[in-house]
Amino acid sequence: MSFIVAIDGPAGTGKGTMASRLSKKYNLVNIDTGATYRCVTLEMMNQNIGMDEEEKIAEMLKSIQIELSTEKGKQKVFLNGQDVTDKIRSKEVSANVSPVSSIKQVRVAMAGLQRKMAQGKDVIMEGRDIGTVIFPNADVKIYLNANVEVRAKRRVKQNEEKGIEMSYEEVLENIKKRDKNDMEKEMGALKVAEDAVVIDGSEMTIKEVEKAISNVIDKKLKEKKEQEKIEKENTTEFKPIENTEEAKTNKSDVLVIFGIL
Ligand code: C5P
Repeated sequence: MSFIVAIDGPAGTGKGTMASRLSKKYNLVNIDTGATYRCVTLEMMNQNIGMDEEEKIAEMLKSIQIELSTEKGKQKVFLNGQDVTDKIRSKEVSANVSPVSSIKQVRVAMAGLQRKMAQGKDVIMEGRDIGTVIFPNADVKIYLNANVEVRAKRRVKQNEEKGIEMSYEEVLENIKKRDKNDMEKEMGALKVAEDAVVIDGSEMTIKEVEKAISNVIDKKLKEKKEQEKIEKENTTEFKPIENTEEAKTNKSDVLVIFGIL
């Protein structure tokens, strides 16, 4: 039985950091669903496909290959066989990814791909609609939030580390625009799942957020273990009917009944 942890929330709340740390802690496959939308955005830019060119988008989606892997503890993203780990974080991709991810056929294709990536595995998935659309029955649902200024500051720092030059004002504008667009999407809009645990990390350290999410995961794992134990205890061994004592003694009756029929 697979175990699914969904972390949803707006941009820059630390979902990526949490998914990475917790995937190591609990031995879960880390699936960054935002990266899949970023790959589609980059491919549309590479092929010069406009947002309203439905047929070209459909054609591109048929052949696109997106792979997420972890190498030496670091997440790598491959688009049609090419390492695009850094390219998909560029200013241009970040500015276009939200509108691209609003295109219905893109969402349908990525939802299929994301479910396939998780099939039969224990996973931690971060995104916007994991707990609401992709895996509404996820074992753990976290909605990670933080105020927009804190998020923008964190993103500026991350960008600096990656060598992406963007001012605080530019990042803040980009995040605000993306939040609005992500929340107003017709399909897969960013919202809190009914049964999600909401964590506001504005005033929390990384370790504190990690502890808060770990507590939810630990509780669920304990519940699941107990549930599996009960199910095991209640399962009686299956015996083929012809081997039971009852079947052996009644064998002739059965034959007679069939004979009459
Ligand atoms: O998580 P990240 O910021 O990389 O996501 C990039 C964009 O992809 C988001 O702003 C959102 O528009 C889109 N996205 C989405 N659904 C997801 C994950 C990301 O629509 N599950």
